[in-house]
Amino acid sequence: TMACLTAMDAGDGLNAFVHKTPELALEQARAADARIAAGDAPAMCGIPVGVKDLFAVKGVPTQAGSNILRGFRPEYESTVTTKLWEAGAVCLGKLNMDEFAMGSSNESSCYGPAVNPWKVDERKLTPGGSSGGSAAAVAADLCLAALGTDTGGSIRQPAAFCGITGIKPTYGRVSRWGVVAYASSLDQAGPMAKSVRDAAIMLGAIAGHDAKDSTSAELAVPDFEAALTGDIRGKRIGIPREYRLEGMPAEIAALWDRGMDMLRDAGAEIVDISLPHAKYALPTYYIIAPAEASSNLARYDGVRYGHRAKLAQGDGITEMYEKTRAEGFGPEVQRRIMAGTYVLSAGFYDAYYNRARKVRALIKRDFEQAFAAGIDAILAPTTPSSAFGLGEQGGADPVEMYLNDVFTVTLNLAGLPGVAVPVGLDSKGLPLGLQLIGRPWEEAALLNHAYVLE
Ligand code: GLN
Repeated sequence: TMACLTAMDAGDGLNAFVHKTPELALEQARAADARIAAGDAPAMCGIPVGVKDLFAVKGVPTQAGSNILRGFRPEYESTVTTKLWEAGAVCLGKLNMDEFAMGSSNESSCYGPAVNPWKVDERKLTPGGSSGGSAAAVAADLCLAALGTDTGGSIRQPAAFCGITGIKPTYGRVSRWGVVAYASSLDQAGPMAKSVRDAAIMLGAIAGHDAKDSTSAELAVPDFEAALTGDIRGKRIGIPREYRLEGMPAEIAALWDRGMDMLRDAGAEIVDISLPHAKYALPTYYIIAPAEASSNLARYDGVRYGHRAKLAQGDGITEMYEKTRAEGFGPEVQRRIMAGTYVLSAGFYDAYYNRARKVRALIKRDFEQAFAAGIDAILAPTTPSSAFGLGEQGGADPVEMYLNDVFTVTLNLAGLPGVAVPVGLDSKGLPLGLQLIGRPWEEAALLNHAYVLE
């Protein structure tokens, strides 16, 4: 903990930690020491971690990267962080993120972007998003592991950009209680760590049924770490042909081939599969996620949380809402609220939202059919490129930024687990990752496949 507290201060230039909790860390570290001395050390005893700013930590600023939550200190603790502290982990502080988890570069944060610790020239690179601070902090050794959330790739894409491992669990595996909501039918929290083993241990600590989240599954939590045997003989790995996008960089294609070789060498069989509706995943996601976000973000009204605009003489409640929301939400969040409100409006509901729901069901069915045909896991690239420079994407055209999510959003729509692992470096020397997608609730087997790629 002391080493991390020092590293955290030395790493301020990365803008990864946006709120540090050294007193809490030292108090928890002392308690962990006492538990170790008493011979009662749980799975993460004394392990210093960082927490994405999306999780409520009691008494600690929780702003979801947004000005509208400025000064908000929750009176309650999220289920996931409660479980972490029970497992002995030590809280170093809150980590930078895109505002309300909307983004792929951490540039929509009210704190300014986090910076990728990888550097190959004079440019500052994005750590990815939205869990950019989490990935940067783990990659730069400011903490041993971090919590992220993944609605459309926000654990896996930053993990890939920073050369670390991240898991998006099956929807319902990890409680969403006390996690600021973005798109509730897609959001899942998960670990971001230095290795598959670390991630497996952390997943074990945070998973499990929670009566406070109605979508939380009543299933036992397996020993994810014990599943890491490296034995995947006879397993069938699907390679979805629709993911081989036209214009895919040769380096990404080569990395994908290398991943196939590694799995084949370990005794798995590589099988071509088809996920015919995958090509509709990105537009489907960018209808459903903003629709749910526009509803979830309606609660930030200047009354209940955080920021309230200064009002002029004669302003009524409508002006208070308008001014507060105009000041509090950044441009990307405002864009999503408008898009979401539009696709849910009476005149366009059937054409957009309802259509997207139907396509979502087809995307899910594609995966079900692949698994029913005996596929154990699906291998694909995590991102269409390595980390790009800050300010280089999405300036004039927000869709350019959305394209980063082309490989990650499919499994959120289907509720499936996915794990991103670093597999190599590109010719510039930046990390590239592959992702494995698994059957629902079979994170243990999925992690064992990822273990082979590590
Ligand atoms: N980049 C995607 C978005 O902006 C995914 C974000 C996430 O997973 N939270 O919606």
